[in-house]
Amino acid sequence: MLEDILKLKELILTPKQVVITTHRGPDGDAMGSSLAMFHFLRKLGHKVNVITPNEYASFLHWMPGNNEVLVYEGNEEESKEVVKNADLIFLMDFNHISRIGSLADIISNTNVSKVLIDHHQDPDMNVADLFFSDTQACSTAQLTYELIEAMSLSSYLDKEIAECLYVGIMTDTGSFKYASTTAKTHDITAQLIDAGVDNARIHDLIYDNSSANRIKLLGYCLYKKLLIYKENNSAIISLTAEELQRFKFQNGDTEGFVNYALAIKGIRFAVFIAEKDGIVKLSLRSKGGFKVNEIANKYFSGGGHINASGGVSQVSVDETIKSVEKIINTYKKELIN
Ligand code: 5GP
Ligand code: MN
Repeated sequence: MLEDILKLKELILTPKQVVITTHRGPDGDAMGSSLAMFHFLRKLGHKVNVITPNEYASFLHWMPGNNEVLVYEGNEEESKEVVKNADLIFLMDFNHISRIGSLADIISNTNVSKVLIDHHQDPDMNVADLFFSDTQACSTAQLTYELIEAMSLSSYLDKEIAECLYVGIMTDTGSFKYASTTAKTHDITAQLIDAGVDNARIHDLIYDNSSANRIKLLGYCLYKKLLIYKENNSAIISLTAEELQRFKFQNGDTEGFVNYALAIKGIRFAVFIAEKDGIVKLSLRSKGGFKVNEIANKYFSGGGHINASGGVSQVSVDETIKSVEKIINTYKKELIN
């Protein structure tokens, strides 16, 4: 590890053309860690570009550096040119090249050093030259902070970097409530606040910034679309493309909906299913030892963390509900113990 930290430091101490990329459907941690790295590397004198595979939720658009993010979908040629000119690539918050969608080929076909910083289970060791993977870490943002510190470059930490890291840590810990939140997480958060982060303001910008349609869609999900399998401690919420359209769905609108199912007393396994851009996506969440990453991997070509994973289904929303019901029955024993 120390050897890798020294290698990373050596790589970033001479100015380069850097590309930072992150997973499809970037969330707070993906954008937080990527933009923190963007500001940090810029301060060190690099020319830096953040490229996301696709668009991300508008509640992340206030983040410092957002206006300079290149979204691959819709800017394919420009993105390819930027990747072609890169001599160092950072892969933030994902464990497998398939997670960057249509960017995968372009990134894989480059011949430059790649650095992965991530906290997902089972990283694919072929995707990068330098690995900073800690599956215990609450967020990639925390790992990014730890790396900056380990390289003795904390003096570069400024308000912008701190704000980005704070977003990553706050969103991936469910506002500091998940078990992954440690004393160290709080220590780091304290350093970020010392560096100028206005924590209440950031919470407000992320969580109290919804459109009325989003809140109505949430109400609809909870009132009309929540299936509870009480005897199996499980619940499903689903939305078809038509329903999303009815509530004028915008990227990011359904973020966090699955957690409401998990907030019901006794529920240990919750699944959110939604048909977006012609793809039926699943979000799986659990409490305790029920490993949703294994379910996501086995049944839905996906993965993630033990208590939070995602995947895709090849069949309709209704048929996907039936598959999940079958899975709930198959795992009944584990779910009720
Ligand atoms: P979410 O449900 O919020 O989309 O994702 C939860 C977690 O599962 C995230 O950590 C994410 O990285 C992972 N995840 C979501 N979708 C997929 C997927 O399609 N494939 C894999 N391998 N992981 C996913
Ligand atoms: Mn993350």
